[in-house]
Formats: sequence, structure tokens, C-alpha cells
Amino acid sequence: MTDCLFCKIAAGEIPADKVYEDKHAIAFLDINPVAPGHTMVIPKVHAETYLDLPDEEVCPLGEALKKVTTMVKEALKPDGFNIGANMKKAAGQAVDHLHIHIIPRWEGDGGGSMHSIVKNPPKEDIKEIAEKIRNAA
Ligand code: 5GP
Ligand code: ZN
Repeated sequence: MTDCLFCKIAAGEIPADKVYEDKHAIAFLDINPVAPGHTMVIPKVHAETYLDLPDEEVCPLGEALKKVTTMVKEALKPDGFNIGANMKKAAGQAVDHLHIHIIPRWEGDGGGSMHSIVKNPPKEDIKEIAEKIRNAA
């Protein structure tokens, strides 16, 4: 997409601290890191969210994610990681090109877990929710 920031980074038109590239994906450091080594892995093809990613790009992105996470682990020796994507404005997505955040974590770094993202427990019984999801297959 011509006016997409991350498409431009993928094409090398805008500079970034690139740490990995293959045929399908690239990874670069977040310009505003929340932790040392905060890295983003993106598909080269433009897709707004994971659900918009063509099926044939899903495995290559997953493979790149594992490779880059391993590289960050080797380089910086964190005690753990949070890995995830903000998808759509409601979830905090600011750049409309799918990007998977790799956030290295250290014991005592003061951060929370995935459970600290939102506190919106369901009012319905979780068994009813499970049934709705199963029925959507
Ligand atoms: P999200 O869309 O998941 O909220 O996050 C977008 C992320 O992209 C932010 O963490 C932000 O710091 C990062 N970002 C925004 N613009 C640039 C840029 O031009 N270069 C790089 N390397 N990162 C960026
Ligand atoms: Zn794009």
C-alpha cells in the first residue's frame, strides 16, 4: 500500500533499525521501545490485521517470529517475553499494517502480564461464550 508507513519500511523507503529479513517478513526495532530489544515482525505484504493476512503468509510470518525471538533471546538474554499484536483501534493499533511485538522481559522489570491489558470480564456464563465460538466454525 503506497501510503503505509510499514510498507515503506519493508520496501526500504523509510529507514529503520532492521534486524532480520527474509522473502516474506522483516523485523526492526520499535522506534519508541518499552523494553530493550522491543522488536516488531511484519509481513512484507500489506495486511491490516492477522485476519487479513493471506493464508500462505501465515506460516512464514510465524517462522520469522520464532527466528527473531530466538535472535533477541541469544543477544540480550531476557528472562521471558511478551509477544502479541494490537489489532484494530479498540485494541490500541496505531499503525494499520500487522506487526507482532516482541517485548523482552526481565525479572523485576516492573511490567505486567497479558492480563493487565484490559479488565472487562464477561457478564455471560463462559460456557455460553464457548458455545457461540464453537458454532462460528
Ligand atoms: P501499535 O500499532 O501496535 O500500537 O504500535 C505501533 C508501534 O510502531 C509503536 O510501538 C510505535 O512506537 C512504532 N512505530 C511507529 N512509527 C514507527 C516508525 O516510523 N519506525 C519504527 N521503527 N517504529 C515505529
Ligand atoms: Zn502496509
